[in-house]
Amino acid sequence: MINLILFGPPGAGKGTQAKRLVEGRGFIQLSTGDMLRAARASESLLGQRVAAVMDSGSLVSDEIVIELIDDQISQNLSAHGFIFDGFPRTLAQAIALDGLLKSHGHRIDRVIRLVVNDDELLARITKRFNEQGRLDDNPVTFVTRLAAYHSQTAPLIPFYADRGILREVNGMAAMDAVSASIDAALAGLKG
Ligand code: AMP
Repeated sequence: MINLILFGPPGAGKGTQAKRLVEGRGFIQLSTGDMLRAARASESLLGQRVAAVMDSGSLVSDEIVIELIDDQISQNLSAHGFIFDGFPRTLAQAIALDGLLKSHGHRIDRVIRLVVNDDELLARITKRFNEQGRLDDNPVTFVTRLAAYHSQTAPLIPFYADRGILREVNGMAAMDAVSASIDAALAGLKG
């Protein structure tokens, strides 16, 4: 099994690149944002619990997202590998993920960091807001999401860099060039 984290701020292109890797290589994409939005759409108790926090642009509790990921890993142990998209977002989540994978004899093999500057992110998210109308993409909420990334998620960069598994990719390049850089960063990995 090969396990990857697609890492970066909201709007960096993690979801787009994850979907390409799913189609091309048979990975399973685990996006906590997608899982939480599905919970809201189904009006489950979980969906009701997280709605206000998500709309504010803040992070939902570690406990909730760790449980979602734990369930998905346990249900898909025969997968070729997982792509974690939008998870982990805090140090506590990263430590929990290590423990979950380890309990099944697995680990994170690569962390691909998509590097995009804040001005470009704001431009992309404003465009997505106008096209798709996702409420937390509105420019005011997006500032909160970006702040959460810088204060709570960016500290994971040294956490993974120290292990030698972090690779940085220029996420400002054209989509195909980003894909090619990711492929290069994954070359040689064997599950
Ligand atoms: P995303 O689509 O990944 O940007 O996620 C949308 C929203 O879902 C975030 O702004 C958070 O409120 C929540 N969320 C998604 N993933 C996580 C996570 N790993 N930890 C905490 N909150 C999350």
